[in-house]
Amino acid sequence: MTTCSVCRNIKWTKVYRIKDWDIERCDVCGFAKIDPPPARESRPEFYSEEKVIGRNIKRLSGPQRFSRMMKGAFKKITGQDKSGIFYHKLSRYLSAGAEILDIGCGDGSFLDLAKRRFNCTGIEISEYLGSMAARRAGIRIVTGDFFTADLGPGKFDGITLISLLEHLDRPEAAVKKCFDLLKPGGVLLIKTVNYGCVNRVIKKENWTGFRVPDHVVYFNPSNLKRLLEMTGFSRLKTSAWPFSDNMYCDAWK
Ligand SMILES: [Zn+2]
Repeated sequence: MTTCSVCRNIKWTKVYRIKDWDIERCDVCGFAKIDPPPARESRPEFYSEEKVIGRNIKRLSGPQRFSRMMKGAFKKITGQDKSGIFYHKLSRYLSAGAEILDIGCGDGSFLDLAKRRFNCTGIEISEYLGSMAARRAGIRIVTGDFFTADLGPGKFDGITLISLLEHLDRPEAAVKKCFDLLKPGGVLLIKTVNYGCVNRVIKKENWTGFRVPDHVVYFNPSNLKRLLEMTGFSRLKTSAWPFSDNMYCDAWK
């Protein structure tokens, strides 16, 4: 019997079986997770796999691949790609020269943009991706486990968790560490899959958010908010569109 990362409840209901994995949902707050969690330490490259877009595109069929590539190109041109969204938010919230940490920075695509305005640090568990990021963005990349890395408490004005939280089987510890790493008044920006979206209700086991066993935990807007508030974040701004697979949450220390 495991304890819920959000509400400490110990009662769970099995909701889906996908491939050989069970997804369970907390009876109290609706937080969902793979149970038992897969052993992740042996395969660090999976943490950031979805950040290497090329690798994902290769898995798709011809028309799907074309559509994904066109969508990506359109988003890049209009500034609505993942990196653009986070860059514009940070530019609104923080002054130029602010200290930014991107956790799970992957191949450095976000940092390559963010370094134009901010002092950036990245941390990446995969050595392969970490060295790609260092080459690409030309900034400090710490390679290793975020939970044990010494990044300096109270050092950062802004921290980004872009499509990473769903990969971490101790999300409460990750959020706490982010809180400790932020300066007072600093902001944490999160993008994660939204278990509460309509797409998941309609598509059930076939929902794209269920990337098992890579995605181990699944929040909805209310339990993510609850976890952040419990951790000590005081001001929260959540955006979750019913038909989007992802949600965003900005939280201030
Ligand atoms: Zn719970």
